[in-house]
Amino acid sequence: MATTSTRKLNCPTCGNPVQWTDKFPYRPFCCKRCQLIDFGDWAAEKHSIPGEPALNPEQNDSDL
Ligand SMILES: [Zn+2]
Repeated sequence: MATTSTRKLNCPTCGNPVQWTDKFPYRPFCCKRCQLIDFGDWAAEKHSIPGEPALNPEQNDSDL
């Protein structure tokens, strides 16, 4: 195992080298744009999931 204090990885969006330091505040992304792109994908996927199912008509008895 290498004992480097700086971890290196690649931006998941564009593949550019990213260092795990304060120089890359958007890590693991190389820049804000790549972060937004990835987040946008994630959000779009979430939005594609249908919302709550229609209320069950059998759940209609409201005795207090
Ligand atoms: Zn990138």
